[in-house]
This record gives sequence, structure tokens and C-alpha cells, in this order.
Amino acid sequence: MTDFGELAGELETLKAQGLYRFCRRVEETRGGRIRLEGRWHVHLASNNYLGLSVHPRVVAAANEATERFGTGAGSARLIGGTLSLHEALEEELAAFKQAEACLVFPTGYMANLGTVTALVGPGDLVIGDELNHASLVDACRLSRAIFRIFPHRDLQRLSEALEKRGSRYRRALIVTEGLFSMDGDQSPLAEMAQIARRFEAWLLVDDAHGTGVLGEGGRGSLAQSGVSPEGILQMGTLSKALGSLGGFLAGPREVIEILRNRARSFIYTTALPASCVAAAREALRVLQEEPVWRERLWENIRFWTEGLRRLGVRVLSQGSPIVPVWVGSNEGAMAAAQALLEAGVFAPGIRPPTVPTGSARVRTSVTAMHSREDLELALAAFEHLFQRGKALVG
Ligand code: PMP
Repeated sequence: MTDFGELAGELETLKAQGLYRFCRRVEETRGGRIRLEGRWHVHLASNNYLGLSVHPRVVAAANEATERFGTGAGSARLIGGTLSLHEALEEELAAFKQAEACLVFPTGYMANLGTVTALVGPGDLVIGDELNHASLVDACRLSRAIFRIFPHRDLQRLSEALEKRGSRYRRALIVTEGLFSMDGDQSPLAEMAQIARRFEAWLLVDDAHGTGVLGEGGRGSLAQSGVSPEGILQMGTLSKALGSLGGFLAGPREVIEILRNRARSFIYTTALPASCVAAAREALRVLQEEPVWRERLWENIRFWTEGLRRLGVRVLSQGSPIVPVWVGSNEGAMAAAQALLEAGVFAPGIRPPTVPTGSARVRTSVTAMHSREDLELALAAFEHLFQRGKALVG
């Protein structure tokens, strides 16, 4: 009989390293609060930045689509799972991202996986920022292209790596995030686009967190940096500011056609259900018609970031809803998260391999749903923690 006993040892090792993971059971969420183990906490762990997943118009659109099309799509997109709703969403996303065309995947993870593996392979070079999201890293590894990493936001090293390329590779693809998910800082996209042009490389920008949040109308990181989207591959997710589920790639028409033909995470999986598609479409409309959600989000970002800074806490970045607070050790980050939980605040401790070793942190994210009272309560909890152990001193 197969023995799984050795896995118990591996689990013990994870625990000893402060790396053991478990899922916290959420009982209910309401506005900026979350109920865990019977108690309400201020919720600083959501990427539902604009609160659109609970917006009445978005919820109604999802319900209506379910009534019409049922709960599951029933087959893959290429087999019989493509609804007119999918195509309408793709057109709307392409327009929103000022791209020629767009393809929707069941998740953002699958959008990254499918895009990179369909575009590069053996004989090509793919080069990514060292802090890229795991879905990009996995995509680069799976592609079987030569995979190089450049230090975070380091344009010099990126250029050098491309310079060395010479004629050794068929294609080069640069992959980066627009707004980094665990650091809350941004890629220098204007310069990266120039470098891509200079070295005739393609540029893929994962804007999972920038979409709906940054730039004019929430178009994302490229819009905020004033970079023309022409020729750039823009990945995004429907699961964060757009309050739904799903991922997409917006870009040149030929790229989208190749993805439809080659991206395995698009071809060999069931289509996104109608409810998710309809929710995302309505969320895009709300984004354009009700600027109040973005205004509230940005007011809260300012209030929260300034409040933390005033406490003397070491905040890793500002200017986005992602506000990570530096801790360093894994145990310290988990102890800080636990102390916050006891004080009525839910903010996760983030450890390797999600972030580099020695840079564990408490990741806070602000949304449009937080009231001033929510954020004041959370600031009081941070103040208490800070005074108690000076745990978060910069
Ligand atoms: N890219 C980044 C930068 C992300 O943060 C995430 C989600 N955490 C994804 C991709 C994957 O998106 P999804 O959750 O839609 O699979």
C-alpha cells in the first residue's frame, strides 16, 4: 500500500519554518467588514477594490444571465460554449483597453498561462521581473523558452539581458506586472515599452490590479503612464476591481487569433459561466457611469496610507489600494496578523514563496466599501500593535 506518512514530515517542516498555510473560513461579508468565527472584523484582505461584486446592478445582471443561460456553460469555448455574451464582453474589454481585440479565459491565472505558452517556446527568450506573480512565473517555465529574470524594475539589467540576446533567439517576450500585487508599486511602463521597441521584443503587462483602479476611467496602468497600448499585450482579470471571475488578454488581432488556436488553458477548459460574463459587462458599465466608486476608493487610499505613515509604520508603497506593511520575518508577519485579528482587523501575513525570503509583510488592501469608521478602527489596531512591540518599525 502507498504510504503518505512522509508528507506528515513535510507538513511539520512547513510549520517549523512558519510557512504552513490554511484557509480562513469566511462566514459573511458586509461593506468593509468580514465575519470570521462569529466575530466581525474590518476587512483589509479583499481585491474587490470598488465593491462591484455586491453592486445591485452587477448582482442583478449575474442573476438575469443565470436565469437565461443556466449556471454552467456546458462546454469549452471552441466546442459550443461561446455565448453572444462572451463575444460582447470581449469587444467591450478591447474597447476599454484600447486594443484591437480581446480573448476571455476562465481565470486570470489561465490567461497568463495560455498567453505566454502560446506565444513563446523552445528557441525563444522570455524575461520577467523578479517579483512577477506566480501565474506569470509558471507560464514562463511551462513555455520551455529560455527564461531569465531581471531585478525588480531594473531597466538597465533588462536592457543588458536583451542586448546579450543578439540573434540567438527567435523571439523575445518581456513580462511584467503593471501594479505589483504584493508590493503595490508599479512598473516603469513608458521606459519598458521603449526598450521593447528598441530590441524588437514583445511586452506583456499583467494589469490584474491596475484594471478598474488606475488611469483615466480606470483603464489601467498603461493609461496612467501615458503609454499607447498599441502593440502591447494587456492581461487583466475580471476578479478584482470588476467584481466577477475570469481573465483576459487584450492586444493585436493576430495575437488573439493565435491564442484562440493555441492557448491550451483556453481550448481545453469549460467556458466562463454566463453569470460571470454578465457581471463583468455590467461592472464595466458601472465603472464608466458611476465615478463615485473610484472617488471613494481614492479617498480611502489617501486616508489609509497617510494614517499608517503618521503612526511611523513602514509602508512599502503608496498610490494604490495595495498598502503592504513591512515586517521581515515569517513568524513576525504571522504574529502581527494574529494580533490584528484579535483587535478586530483582518489583514493577511504574506510569506515566501509569495514574496522573497526575509521580506514577509502584512498586506492591507483598501476598497471603496470601507467607511471612515472602519479605517479609523483599523488604524487604532495598528497603533496598538506598533506601540506594543515596535513590530512594524521601519
Ligand atoms: N496576476 C496577478 C498579478 C494577480 O495578482 C492574480 C491574482 N492574485 C492573477 C494574475 C490571477 O488572476 P485570477 O485570480 O483571476 O486567476
